Amino acid sequence: MGKLVLDNLTIRYRSEKAVENFSLEVNTGEMVSLLGPSGAGKTTILKAIAGIIQLDAGEITIDGRSVKGVPPEKRDTVMVFQNPLLFPFMNVVQNIAFGLRMQGRLDQEGKKRIAEILELTHLKGLESRKVHRLSGGQQQRVSLARALVLKPAVLLLDEPLSNLDANLRQQMRALIQDIQAETRLTMLFVTHDQSEALVLSHRVALLLDGRLRQVGTPRELFYQPADVEVARFFGGENFFEGHIDGGYFHCPYGKVQISETDGNGHRRTATIRPEDLVVSPEAGPGLPGKIQRTRFEGSATRLWIQCQHRQFVALTSEPGFKRNQWVSLSLPPDKIRVFPP
Ligand code: ADP
Ligand code: MG
Repeated sequence: MGKLVLDNLTIRYRSEKAVENFSLEVNTGEMVSLLGPSGAGKTTILKAIAGIIQLDAGEITIDGRSVKGVPPEKRDTVMVFQNPLLFPFMNVVQNIAFGLRMQGRLDQEGKKRIAEILELTHLKGLESRKVHRLSGGQQQRVSLARALVLKPAVLLLDEPLSNLDANLRQQMRALIQDIQAETRLTMLFVTHDQSEALVLSHRVALLLDGRLRQVGTPRELFYQPADVEVARFFGGENFFEGHIDGGYFHCPYGKVQISETDGNGHRRTATIRPEDLVVSPEAGPGLPGKIQRTRFEGSATRLWIQCQHRQFVALTSEPGFKRNQWVSLSLPPDKIRVFPP
C-alpha cells in the first residue's frame, strides 16, 4: 500500500506554467526527496497530490487508482508543512488525536496508535502540555505525529525542517529516518537543501524550473550528475571541455578512459569536484598555480587557484595553505566526470 505515480503533470497558475511534464514514481515504503531551489515548483506538486490544487494535464495515481475528482480528505495523503499549524488551545495529545477524531477513528486501536506515535516522536511526558508552551522542534514533532497517526498511504512533507536551527535540524533528520525505517510509510519529502536530500532519502528527484532534471540514488546524483546544472546544484565546480578520441576523453589536464567507443572528434564537457583535486605545496609534476583566495569552512578549506589558463576551486583538509602561495595541482583521472552528450 502506498505506491504513488505522477504521470506527466503540468500545472499552471493562470497562464504561468509552474510545473511541466513532471513524472515520478514513488514505490511503496520508499522515501523520495523532491529537491530544488525556491520557486522550482515543489510545493505545487505536493499540493496537487494532496488535492489542494488541480492539474492542467497528467494523472496522479495512488496504488493504481487515479485520484482525479477525489477530494483532499478522501485521498489517503497527509501533508506536513514548514509551519506546524497546530491548535494552540489544545494540548499535545488533543492535537495528535484531532485527525482521528474527525474521521471517527478514535477507538481503542486509535488510542493505541497514538501511544505508539508519542513514543516514536519522543513526545512521551509532554501529552498534556499546551502546544504554545512547546519549543519549535517539539511543535514540529507534534505536527509529524499528527500526520503519522493517520497512517496515510503517502506522507507529504513540505520543508518541515527549514525553520529549525542547525543542530535541531540534524536531530530531526535522524528522527525522520528512524520513523521512516520503523513505519515504512511512503514519503515524498520536499527540501531545497541538497545535504538534507542526500542523507534522508532512498532516491532524490531534482527539480529545476518546474522540470525534473534527474532522479536517482543520492550517490548517483552526487557522483554522476546528468549535466552541468545538476552538478552545480550539488556544489560542483571546475568545468572544462575536451574531445573524444579512441575511447578516451582528452583535455588539457589529462586523458580519461570512457565507456563510449565511438564519437571520435566530438566535444564533451567534464568536471572534477573541489574535494577531488590534489593540491601539493611544492612544485610537483602537476599544474603550477597560485592561490588567489582561501576560505576556512570548518572541516575543510576552500582554495581558489589560478593556473595558466583558468581558475580551479579546490577543497582540502590540509591546513597551512596561504594566499599568494604557489602550489601544484593534479586531477586524478578516475575523479574526472565526463558528461554524456
Ligand atoms: P517551491 O515550493 O519549489 O518553492 P512553488 O511550487 O511554491 O515553488 O512555486 C512554483 C512557481 O509557481 C513559482 O514561480 C511561484 O511564484 C509560482 N506560484 C506558486 N503559487 C502560486 C500562486 N498561488 N499563484 C501564482 N503563482 C504561484
Ligand atoms: Mg515551497
